[in-house]
Amino acid sequence: MTEPWKTAPSSPLADALVCACGLITSLLTGILLWSITINSHFALQKLTLWFVIPAGAFLSGWAAASGYYFAYQMYQRRPGRLLLPSVLAASIGTFLLIYYLIYLSFRSALAGLGAEMSFPAFLDLAIRSTTLSIQGILKTGQLGYFGYLTTLLELLGFTAGGFAVCVYLRSKLYCDRCSWRMKHQGQQLRYTLHLEELMAMALDVTAAVKQGDIARAIERHTAVGSFARYKNSSIRSVCVVHSCRHCGRHIVAFSLQRPGGEETWFPIPGATLLARLDSPIHISR
Ligand SMILES: [Zn+2]
Repeated sequence: MTEPWKTAPSSPLADALVCACGLITSLLTGILLWSITINSHFALQKLTLWFVIPAGAFLSGWAAASGYYFAYQMYQRRPGRLLLPSVLAASIGTFLLIYYLIYLSFRSALAGLGAEMSFPAFLDLAIRSTTLSIQGILKTGQLGYFGYLTTLLELLGFTAGGFAVCVYLRSKLYCDRCSWRMKHQGQQLRYTLHLEELMAMALDVTAAVKQGDIARAIERHTAVGSFARYKNSSIRSVCVVHSCRHCGRHIVAFSLQRPGGEETWFPIPGATLLARLDSPIHISR
C-alpha cells in the first residue's frame, strides 16, 4: 500500500535569502523606471494596451519580482508561505518607489523655487494630472479624478506581474521528502481505438498502484493502445514521471484527459493518480 501523502517543509533561511534577491530586483526596477521616466519623459510602467490592459505595469511588476524567479531557479526548492505576500509587497513597493523617486526629483526642483510639497499631496497631483496617449500621437488632457482609476489599473498591473511569477513557481512539482524541485523525466501518452480498452487499463493501473506495484502499473499502461492519436479519441491516458536529483524520489502521475481544443488536453477531475517510489524507473514513449 502507498503511504499517506505528506510534504517536507520549506527552508526559512532559503526563503529569506530569496526575499533579499527579490528586494534587490524590485529596487533596481524602481530606479531604472524612475530614471527612464525622468530622462526620456516616457513612463514605461504606464503603457497600456487598448486603454485598459496595464501591459507596462505588468512587465514592471514581473521585472520587480524576477529576483524571486532567478533565486528559486538557482536554489530549486519549494517556496514557502511567505512567497505570495512578499512578492506582492515587492510589486506594490516598486510602484510606490517610482512615485517617491520622482517626488524627490520634483521636491529638489521646487526647493530651488523656495516652495515645498508633501509626498501625499504630490501623489494626488501626479495621479490627477495623468494623461493618456493614443497610439503615441494623440494626447488627452489631464484626467483629473479619473486618473485614480487608471492608477488603480497600473497598481493591479504591478501586482499581476508579481503574481504571475508566484503562480509559475508554485506550479512546479517539488519533492515531498526534501522539497527540491523535481525534474521531468518522461511522459507516455496512450490513445485507444475503443474507450473500453482505455477504461480496463485505467482500472488495472489503479489496482496495481494501490498494491504499491508501480512497475506493473507502468507495464500495463505501456501495453495498451498507441502513442498516436486516433481520429475519434475522446479520452487519452497520460503517465508522467518526475524524479528528485537530491534524494532519488520518483513521482509517477497517471491521469485521464479530455480534449479542450485542437491540441490542448485537460485532466478529468478526480481521474489522476499519484504514486511515489525510491527506485529508478524508466518510461518509454
Ligand atoms: Zn527529494
